Amino acid sequence: MLTFDTVVVGAGITGLASAYHIKRENPDMNVAVVEKKGGTFAQGNTARSAAGFRDLFSSEVNRKLTSSSISFYRKVQESGFNLGMKFNGYLFLAGRKFVECDVVQGFIREGGRARVVEEDEIREAGFNTRPSSEEKALLSVPDIDAGLLGRNCGIIEPDRLAAYYEGECRRMGGVEFLYNTEVRPLRLKPVEPLNYPGEPFLWQSVHVDTLDTSRGGTVRAEQYVLCTDMWTTALLDPTGIDSHTRPKKRQVFQVSGSEISSLVRHPPMVEGEDVLPPFTILPAHGIIMRPEPKSGSVWFSVADDYGRPYSFEEDPPAGTRVLREEHSASCECLHTGCLKVQGDVDVGWPLRLQHH
Ligand SMILES: Cc1cc2nc3c(=O)[nH]c(=O)nc-3n(C[C@H](O)[C@H](O)[C@H](O)COP(=O)(O)OP(=O)(O)OC[C@H]3O[C@@H](n4cnc5c(N)ncnc54)[C@H](O)[C@@H]3O)c2cc1C
Repeated sequence: MLTFDTVVVGAGITGLASAYHIKRENPDMNVAVVEKKGGTFAQGNTARSAAGFRDLFSSEVNRKLTSSSISFYRKVQESGFNLGMKFNGYLFLAGRKFVECDVVQGFIREGGRARVVEEDEIREAGFNTRPSSEEKALLSVPDIDAGLLGRNCGIIEPDRLAAYYEGECRRMGGVEFLYNTEVRPLRLKPVEPLNYPGEPFLWQSVHVDTLDTSRGGTVRAEQYVLCTDMWTTALLDPTGIDSHTRPKKRQVFQVSGSEISSLVRHPPMVEGEDVLPPFTILPAHGIIMRPEPKSGSVWFSVADDYGRPYSFEEDPPAGTRVLREEHSASCECLHTGCLKVQGDVDVGWPLRLQHH
């Protein structure tokens, strides 16, 4: 049996950041990170993220948490570890009513955290602010008469951030990485054992005793930190603990080609960011647009909830299709799933491989 002070399950961004901070705060602690994927880290949702960051939230707690993360990442990048962090802004195309509400006006008063962007500026950035009646009917999109631009916001490369945390854990020492090791049942133990066969019984208070792994071993720790995102529900179900989360598929489409290149290299809205437009969201439908400077492409994502079950496709096959050959525009999905385009083109998706 392997024994540690703390076992973190999952080597995505949450698990790696947890292991890093736990070790940094407790230098004598013996920590393990257990990850089911083979040989490496951040191959779950972290690898599939659109990776926009922002500190504009209606909840003050969220604002504090995100501001502190952003300043930590900024320091890491300034220390010479390139996280691909760009402060190109976060643009909410949410309309006049939204920008005039109290919370947003508070952001604007708070020392330049955000500013209102008028329709002319949005149009100059390449957006159609007045969709035709056909587009409105088809896509259910509104006119955009104003937006909100967050300044301390932008994009990051999550694989670089994960690599930073993993590297720092190894540099500090005392953090063991058990890759290719899936945690199976959590073994529960009564808080007050009666030493009677069949424990724990329904009415006893329990805590996690050990973890079984796919390698046939058992791991014991003083504390367990589950950082398994959407897999947490399945991991906890046998214990009767509800994680209050369910998986829902999201898709990110990478679109590249001559028609799209002007969207990637456009005069910036945030001062000092060369030629990069902001991470942009149409909140009414959860449509996002993220410039991807490395490949000169744009990522699009839609929160398409209707009729989509709470289910989960682990490792779908890869694929890319040219959608409009006359313009050489191509679209590939960076996340799991399948898109039906204009009724006659099915697009199969590749997994995005993250490591450099
Ligand atoms: C399409 C999409 C777009 C997104 N866009 C954004 C965005 O713009 N901004 C933003 O902030 N967030 C965004 N997110 C959310 C963000 O990516 C996730 O919140 C974040 O990556 C979660 O990290 P994690 O470490 O909790 O999970 P994961 O990265 O999924 O890591 C969980 C790990 O646990 C491992 N694991 C699971 N079960 C077990 C087991 N039994 N034993 C051992 N290991 C196990 C998995 O293999 C995985 O490596 C987006 C997510 C998606 C899918």
